[in-house]
Amino acid sequence: MSGLIVVSFDIDGTLEIGEPPGVVPIVLIRTAKRLGYLVGSCSDRPLTYQQAVWERLGIAPDFMVLKHRLADVRRRFAAAAYYHIGDSDTDARYASAAGFRFLEADPVAHAAWVAELFGPSG
Ligand SMILES: [Mg+2]
Repeated sequence: MSGLIVVSFDIDGTLEIGEPPGVVPIVLIRTAKRLGYLVGSCSDRPLTYQQAVWERLGIAPDFMVLKHRLADVRRRFAAAAYYHIGDSDTDARYASAAGFRFLEADPVAHAAWVAELFGPSG
């Protein structure tokens, strides 16, 4: 895939370390980082909490925003593709309003979008 890819992650109900845990493994974030994607969090959790999550994971995020500020991320980075991964209708709504493609953190959907995100061999 050519061009910059931005991937935004909801935390609770989405990431395996969320409360409640979601279906998205942390290794998926590491894979995205390794491929040069810009990754970050977009959550209702305060930025201090988001920062603590990233520190605990040992991953340097490219951005952290509150959920209603996702459009700021879109403005900040000129990318070829923008994805927001989340588990709720709220995620879907904010993603679409901010010009992000919504990827649902659901076991079935997850299998399909991993291939879209990383290519068939990912
Ligand atoms: Mg959530």
